[in-house]
Amino acid sequence: MLKEFKEFVMRGNVLDLAVGVIIGGAFGKIVGSLVNDVIMPAIGLLMGGVNFSELAIAEVIKYGAFIQAIVDFLIVAFVIFLVVKSANSMKKAPAPADPTTKECPHCISTISIKATRCPNCTSELKA
Ligand SMILES: [Zn+2]
Repeated sequence: MLKEFKEFVMRGNVLDLAVGVIIGGAFGKIVGSLVNDVIMPAIGLLMGGVNFSELAIAEVIKYGAFIQAIVDFLIVAFVIFLVVKSANSMKKAPAPADPTTKECPHCISTISIKATRCPNCTSELKA
């Protein structure tokens, strides 16, 4: 069951899905920050009429929070990149497994690597 779970997790599409969810969530923060910290206050100012006698625009439009959201997104994206990179290298590592079969030179059938006599054509095989 543990092996099945590992195969399930290591399958590319599951990892891609997880990355998509995390990146999507992080990107959602950027959009949320853009709307809440920049666009909505700007609309509010436009609707209420900008008062030029006050420098309120600098305090209301929190573009700093928006920049912070972008930086957060880049950090999350970079961490995800590292996770995917290490997962990919883990996926490649167990690929060259020791062969358990070989080909009989006489009848070209696949037989056990330990066989000294072919079970199909009964030819003796060099070890
Ligand atoms: Zn054979």
